[in-house]
Amino acid sequence: MRWVQRHGLRYLQFAQLDAIPGLWHGIFTRFCMDGREGSPSAFNIGLNVGDSDARVHRNRYRMLDVSGCRTAVFARQVHGHQVALWQCPAADHPKGQGRDVVYLEGDALVTDQPGVALVIQTADCQSVLLADPERGVIANVHAGWRGSIADIVGRTVGTMVSQFGCLPENIAVGVGPSLGPCCAEFINYRDEIPPVYWRYRGAGDRFDFWRLSIDQLVSAGVPDHQIALSNICTRCNTSTFFSHRGEAGRAGRFASVILMESRLRESNTRELK
Ligand SMILES: [Zn+2]
Repeated sequence: MRWVQRHGLRYLQFAQLDAIPGLWHGIFTRFCMDGREGSPSAFNIGLNVGDSDARVHRNRYRMLDVSGCRTAVFARQVHGHQVALWQCPAADHPKGQGRDVVYLEGDALVTDQPGVALVIQTADCQSVLLADPERGVIANVHAGWRGSIADIVGRTVGTMVSQFGCLPENIAVGVGPSLGPCCAEFINYRDEIPPVYWRYRGAGDRFDFWRLSIDQLVSAGVPDHQIALSNICTRCNTSTFFSHRGEAGRAGRFASVILMESRLRESNTRELK
């Protein structure tokens, strides 16, 4: 993993995903250098969590500018397990003419279209970024505990396979900063979490949802060595990332973004020649 700072924003990249030619991704932090003040201020990209809509849209556009996307796809996240596909080509706007922003129902987004940024917002839940460089398919998943017990990451791999002919063994994955086994306490787990998942319970009714995601990805056929964990707990790092639990439910949201700059398969084929 590495930290990048660009245009006054700070974000995180996974080595596994960064190594794929034609792929761009970033997990943004709450940090942004304010142009006028020259001081860091909270970079929230979530609507309806305390900031004005105008400020949130300004932040979103700033983030999307860094990504270089032509179309941005946001998920209407509801802690469900629906996987949404986006298969429309990115609109080709004249330079400086903005970009399309679309919203899809679901908690996982999948596309095979270059120029399209898939955006997931979190503050303790996992964002899981997936890429198959062979088929040129990317995905971004919002996995809270409800999504995790519904195996939304496994369902997303399944969609990549059934809809786009991906082979799970070609998929690389990064699991973003989220509630770690140090802080994922579920005192009502007997009512909330099915017994089959109780083996992920550690001391103090804390659950290791990072391990669960890895196990679900491996069960779906993704090789263990192609799965990267950020190993960053949001609640333990609220100065860098928003945390719902760490900020008494008043947190903003940070974004995870993945984008194919070009057709991965074509660019990789060219490299092989
Ligand atoms: Zn923690």
